Order: sequence, then structure tokens, then C-alpha cells
Amino acid sequence: MYDIAVIGAGPAGLAAGLYAARAKLNVAIFEKLGEGGQLAITADIENYPGAQEGVTGAELAHRMKEQALHFGAKIVKDTINAVELAGKVKKITGAKERYEAKTVIIANGGKARPIGCPGEAELAGKGVSYCATCDANFFQDLEVFVIGGGDSALDEAMYLTKFARKVYIVHRRDEFRAAKSIQEKALKNPKIEVVWDSVVQEIKGDGVVESIVLKNVKTGEIKEHPASEDDGTFGIFPFIGFDPVSEIYKGQVTMDGSGYIVADENMKTNLPGVFAAGDIRVKALRQVVTAAADGAIAAVMAEKYIEHGE
Ligand code: NAP
Repeated sequence: MYDIAVIGAGPAGLAAGLYAARAKLNVAIFEKLGEGGQLAITADIENYPGAQEGVTGAELAHRMKEQALHFGAKIVKDTINAVELAGKVKKITGAKERYEAKTVIIANGGKARPIGCPGEAELAGKGVSYCATCDANFFQDLEVFVIGGGDSALDEAMYLTKFARKVYIVHRRDEFRAAKSIQEKALKNPKIEVVWDSVVQEIKGDGVVESIVLKNVKTGEIKEHPASEDDGTFGIFPFIGFDPVSEIYKGQVTMDGSGYIVADENMKTNLPGVFAAGDIRVKALRQVVTAAADGAIAAVMAEKYIEHGE
């Protein structure tokens, strides 16, 4: 029986593991793929206090994992498919094994939100990508369309300019949501061109992306942008936010209408011994620094719960 089962190995889960291990608790961090979550697929990290200039999200995530392991946290590679969280003993079912724990910290974040237009699903991995750091080099000297107007879209668009010949940012409004500092940098980049007030209506292609159809939401004008004959294809990177991965907790843990888990400032959910940390919970600012802070608080509160039952 683990003292703490942490579900998810992003910054929230790894920070929780670090704090729990330093408190000499028997803690397992369950990870599905690699460590880092959204952090691992983020190109550059500029706003995590103390992060070295030029550090990638993947490097920072790796260091967080090594630090948690160093203090005795255990990483368990398994996909958690079901949980029973109401009782005193928390039961966790993975694809490989079943586990038990005195407390659970839910920290498995979210996943990229799809556009939902025709052609997107069929051409995912064939020109449509949700991870610039993973796939940017496939688009060396080609054109790329980034969809969205938040921090992720602009950050990743700037990263993509290191590879692509031209980067279009397609945004549904006439002003960005992204932080002003990020906007200023992006708008200065000579390779970036913004297509304002526009949404993606369709993505076309036979085996690879060959064309994108955009609709201007103000004028109703529809424009198709085909790949040039020489290129034959281009990239499409939707960064239009993400959705919490909270399906397995439904009916047990209180959530808002969008599936984010409700937790108080001590990361406590409605269930005793169950905490939520990081992007999966209802919060105002989703950043690496706030995820890590959530994880630390959740671990300390889990320790208190184990000791005093509160
Ligand atoms: P976000 O802040 O929710 O922005 C999503 C963007 O996509 C918005 O511009 C939104 O348009 C647009 N959008 C949403 N649904 C759409 C749809 N169906 N069709 C077309 N456009 C759509 O998401 P994010 O950029 O992924 O960021 C998520 C969180 O991580 C945020 O809290 C962000 O601050 C944080 N983050 C921070 C950094 C950083 O600090 N460097 C980097 C990455 C992410 P509207 O503006 O019109 O709603």
C-alpha cells in the first residue's frame, strides 16, 4: 500500500512526488508515457523562476523527475484506467496492475483540444500536429499554419519559425489572448503573418495535408490555401487550448461543467484523502510554476491527512 499515489508525472505530479519523498513517505508517481506532460512538449521555458535561458520543457521535466527519484519517489509506468476513491483505501486500476494507496493526488492535466473540422482527425500525424517540439523538423522550409491566439499558439509559432519558411497564425478574433510580452515578440518576427478573424473550416489532403480552408468570421469570405506545387504539403498546428483528462474521476470527484476538478486552496477535493493539483483543477493561472506549487501543497496536505486523518 502506497502512502501517496500520484496520478500524472507533469510538473504538479513530479513536485508532489518530490515533497512526499522528502517527507519519507512511500510515494508512487504513475506516468502513462514519458515525464513532463504539457511541459515536455513546450519548446522554451522563460517564465519558470530560475530556469536557465534556453532550457526546453523536456529538459526541465527531466530534471524534475531526476530530483524526485533522487529523494526516493518511485515512478510507475502504467496507464490508470479506473479509480475507487471514496473509501479509506484508495483503489487504482492500471492497464498492467492494481494498486492501493492511503491518499491520491490527481495530477494528470489535460490534452490538446482538437479543432473538430472535417479532415483534422484523418490527417493527424500526416501534417496536422499538436506538438511543435515533436514535429517541427518535418516542416523544414515549408509553410506552417498555427491555429489559436493564446500563449501556446504564439510561443509555438515562434519556435516553428526556426524550421518553417513561413508561419501563419490563424486566430478567430482581431486581438490575441496571449500575454503582451509574447505578442510583441511574435508580431516582430518577420516569418510570422497573422490571419485575423478566421477559423478553419476544413483540412484537405490525400494521405498528407494539401490544403486548408479558412473562413473569415466577420465577412463570411471563404479562402482555400493549397500547398504550392513545389512543396506539395504544409503543416497545421492547432493550439486552441486543452481539455482536462478527468473522465475516470467522474461521479466521484466534484467537477465544473468543463470537467475541471474542484479543489480548495489546500488542493483538497470533496473526498477525504483525495487531492487535485495542476492543470486538471479549476484555477485562474495554468503555468509550470503554479502546477509545481499545487503539487507541493497537495503532498504536504496528504502527509497531514495520513498523520491526523484530516
Ligand atoms: P488558451 O489560453 O485557452 O488559448 C486558446 C486560444 O485558442 C484562444 O486564443 C482562443 O480564442 C482560441 N480558441 C479556442 N477555441 C477555439 C476554437 N474552437 N477555434 C478557434 N480558436 C479557438 O490556451 P493555451 O494557449 O493552450 O494556453 C493554456 C494555458 O497555458 C493558459 O493558461 C496559458 O496562459 C498557459 N500557457 C502559458 C505559457 C507561457 O506562459 N509562456 C505558454 C503556454 C501556455 P479566444 O482568444 O477568442 O478565446
